[in-house]
Amino acid sequence: MVYDYVIVGGGIVGMSTAWQLKQRHPEKSVILIEKEGLYAKHQTGHNSGVIHAGVYYAPGSLKAKFCKEGVAATIQFCQQNDIAYDQCGKLLVATNSVEKERMLALYERCQQNGIEVELIDEARLKELEPNIVGVGGILVKDTGIVNYQQVTTAMAMRFEEMGGVTRLNTEVVGLSESAEDVTVSVMSNGKPDAVRARFLITCSGLMADRTTRMLGIETDFQIIPFRGEYYRLPAHYNNIVKHLIYPIPDPDLPFLGVHLTRMIDGSVTVGPNAVQGWKREGYGKLNISLRDIWDMVTFSGFWKVLKANFRVGLVETKNSWWKPGYLKTVQKYCPQLKLSDLEAYPAGIRAQAVMKDGSLVHDFLFAESARSLHVCNAPSPAATSAIPIGNYICDKVADKTGSGNAAGQAA
Ligand SMILES: Cc1cc2nc3c(=O)[nH]c(=O)nc-3n(C[C@H](O)[C@H](O)[C@H](O)COP(=O)(O)OP(=O)(O)OC[C@H]3O[C@@H](n4cnc5c(N)ncnc54)[C@H](O)[C@@H]3O)c2cc1C
Repeated sequence: MVYDYVIVGGGIVGMSTAWQLKQRHPEKSVILIEKEGLYAKHQTGHNSGVIHAGVYYAPGSLKAKFCKEGVAATIQFCQQNDIAYDQCGKLLVATNSVEKERMLALYERCQQNGIEVELIDEARLKELEPNIVGVGGILVKDTGIVNYQQVTTAMAMRFEEMGGVTRLNTEVVGLSESAEDVTVSVMSNGKPDAVRARFLITCSGLMADRTTRMLGIETDFQIIPFRGEYYRLPAHYNNIVKHLIYPIPDPDLPFLGVHLTRMIDGSVTVGPNAVQGWKREGYGKLNISLRDIWDMVTFSGFWKVLKANFRVGLVETKNSWWKPGYLKTVQKYCPQLKLSDLEAYPAGIRAQAVMKDGSLVHDFLFAESARSLHVCNAPSPAATSAIPIGNYICDKVADKTGSGNAAGQAA
C-alpha cells in the first residue's frame, strides 16, 4: 500500500503533526514510524516539563509566535484529555546589578512579545518566595508545568482512534524519492522492510540532520548534542517554592541556566546545566558513540562553537563532575540548599543545530524537497510549541501538495 503521509519520529513534534494531519484529512492514510518501543523516549521524555510563556524569544521569530500560541493550545489539549497541568507561574530572579540590568532588557522583550509579566522588587520577591533571595525579579503568571510524555501518549491515542497507523520498534535507515512517492526503508524488529507514501515528514529530534540527509538534501548544519543534567530535591522540599525559579540568563548563552522546577508529580528538580554530549541518545555521563564523535569532530562548526564557548564550557564541565560547583549555581538564589539535597535524577540531551560557521540556530528550522518536509531544529520550547508547530507543518504540506486536502495530488 502507498500511504498518503508518513511521519518519522514519535516525539511530541511528530505525534502532534500526525494527530493534526489525520484530524484535517480523516480520509487520508497516515502512518507514524518510531524506532523506540514507546513514544517520547528522547527529548520529549527527558525535559523540565515547563509550559513556557515565551519570555526569551526574539520578537517576530517562529519561536516567539509558536510559544505564545502553544501555551493556550497545550492547556486546552490537557483540559480536553484530562491531563494534569498547573499554571503555577515562574519567577526570574536577579541576584546582582548586572543581572538586574539584563532583567530590565528581558522585561522589554516580554512587552514586545505581548507576554503579561510583572516587575517585582526585593520585598515582593521575599513575600512571594520566602526561601529565595534576590534584588528583584519578573513574575510570569502564564508559565505552567505538565508531563509531555503524557501529552504525547494522549495525542497518539487520538491519532489511532481516527484510524492513524503507528509502527514502534521501526527504525528508518534509508529514504528515496521519486516523482510519484517516497520510499522509507526501515529495520522493523530486526527485519528489513519498506514503507511507501506520497509525502514524508521527518521529526527526528537528535537525528534530524541524518534523516534529512538520507534523502540527499544538502544541509549546512549539524546536530550537536548538549546534555542537560538535573538533580532532584528530597521530598521534604516539595514545597520549598510556589513558582518555578529561574536565574536571569546571560544573553550570550543559548540555555536558560539551572532552575528550580516544580514537576507535575509534586517533586522539585534542579537543572538542567548544559554540557557537551558525546552520544546523541546516551544518557549516562560516560556514554560515548564513536559515530557521533566522528560526525562532530569532522564538522567545522563544532570547533567554532567550542572555541567561542570555551571558558563557559569548561565551567559547565567542571560543575558537571564537581557537585559543589553545581550547587553554587542554585545557592545563588536558594542559599539553604546543601550538597546532600542534590539527589540523582536522569539527564536529558538537547538536539542543537549548529551551522558550519559555528553559529547556533536559535529558531525552528525546516528543510524540504518536492515530496518531503523535515524539522531540522526544534529546541526548547518545542514541547510547549508542538501543537502550533504541527499546525504549521500541516499548512506547509497543504501548500506543497497543491491543495488543502490532497497529499495524493501532484507535489
Ligand atoms: C534537558 C531538556 C529540557 C527541556 N525543557 C523543556 C521545557 O521545559 N519546555 C519545553 O517546551 N521544551 C523543553 N525542552 C525541549 C523539548 O523537550 C524538545 O524541543 C522537544 O521534545 C522536541 O521534540 P521532538 O519530537 O522534535 O524530538 P524528540 O522528542 O527527541 O523525538 C524525536 C523522535 O524521533 C525518533 N527517531 C529519530 N531517528 C529516527 C529514525 N531513524 N527512525 C525512527 N525514529 C527516529 C526518536 O527515537 C525520537 O522518539 C527541553 C529539552 C531538553 C533536552
